[in-house]
Amino acid sequence: MDKKRIYLSLSQQSGFEQAYVQEALETNWITSGGPYVDEFENVLENYLKNDSSITALNSGTSAIHLALILLGVKSGDEVICQSMTFSASANPILYQDAIPVFVDSELETWNICPESLEIAIKDRIKKGKKPKAIITVHLYGSPYKIDEIHAIADRYQIPIIEDSAEALGSSYKGKSCGTFGTFGILSFNGNKIITTSSGGALISNSVDLKEKAIFYATQSKDEAVHYQHSEIGYNYRMSNICAGIGLGQIKILDKNVIARRENHSFYKEVFNKLEGVKLFKVINDDYTSNYWLSTILIEPNKEKGIDAESLRIAFENQNIETRPLWKPMHMQPIFEKYPYYGNKIAEDLFEKGLCLPSGSNLTIEDKNRIKEVIQTFFN
Ligand SMILES: *Cc1c(COP(=O)(O)O)cnc(C)c1O
Repeated sequence: MDKKRIYLSLSQQSGFEQAYVQEALETNWITSGGPYVDEFENVLENYLKNDSSITALNSGTSAIHLALILLGVKSGDEVICQSMTFSASANPILYQDAIPVFVDSELETWNICPESLEIAIKDRIKKGKKPKAIITVHLYGSPYKIDEIHAIADRYQIPIIEDSAEALGSSYKGKSCGTFGTFGILSFNGNKIITTSSGGALISNSVDLKEKAIFYATQSKDEAVHYQHSEIGYNYRMSNICAGIGLGQIKILDKNVIARRENHSFYKEVFNKLEGVKLFKVINDDYTSNYWLSTILIEPNKEKGIDAESLRIAFENQNIETRPLWKPMHMQPIFEKYPYYGNKIAEDLFEKGLCLPSGSNLTIEDKNRIKEVIQTFFN
């Protein structure tokens, strides 16, 4: 096969990245932190608005970890987490030796279910521990039920950490994802909507929290000329080189969002008349998704040999990468012993779902190849 591989989600360059990196090398700013880190934070703050304070870090995972630390999550504490997500949402709970409590999704946004969330909170309180935090996720770039979820969290006074790793460029009622919770996090990993090669950011709404985050992210150095430490420190700050790449990348964020949303429109057209296949889309205009990944659900049909896995193989045979949805955390070997509240919605989504090629750089040629696989498979 000499057809080039079509990947699930590749980054694309603006052409400005190299100049920033070059400049950082020439001025010898090859450091953790530095002028580009400050500038990148400013640009992101302006983009997200709502008085957000950004701390640029070396990954989205470290941003979640720092959010937990800043909320005082300690050994034995319980933290609620959306089950349907990438493992990086939940791993930092274990870094703190805390206990994850997983909650199911609902069918309209595929994200954390308000009813299951409230049942979980009530039951954990009844069992003796009020959860210290809730980690919510905007899966594949689409906002969760923000009004409902935050009303519940407010009622029980539990802070929310909003995992917005996949949702830069998405919004709810015109407000940017990542700015609703006590903390939000972004990821600039290579597969995300913009990348710094590896990187992330912690979003808060106070300069004090930002300063505290920088303190922990740079080894918790007390104020003293000699290095003195009275708290555990971490090496989590973004490097100046990565921030330079980020400054080049942010110039095409809007363009990437448009491209991903156009991919989604393309799939809408392709699947329009196909029975048994449902393209995920937001339920109403309050929700704006960057459609980081376009995803479908396939109703299995044994007679015709149709299910998500056989479609995945049909794509693979044409050198096109697709992937199942995130396997829910409560089904993962590392997490299955922890409490879970739900009705098997996430399990069902995992069973029937498929993520489709969604890169910002999909060409018309790529789309034609994708369309052909789909049409051949379903005919
Ligand atoms: C990518 C991702 C993360 C982690 O981000 P990294 O920068 O790779 O550490 C966290 N949560 C979700 C939902 C993600 O997709």
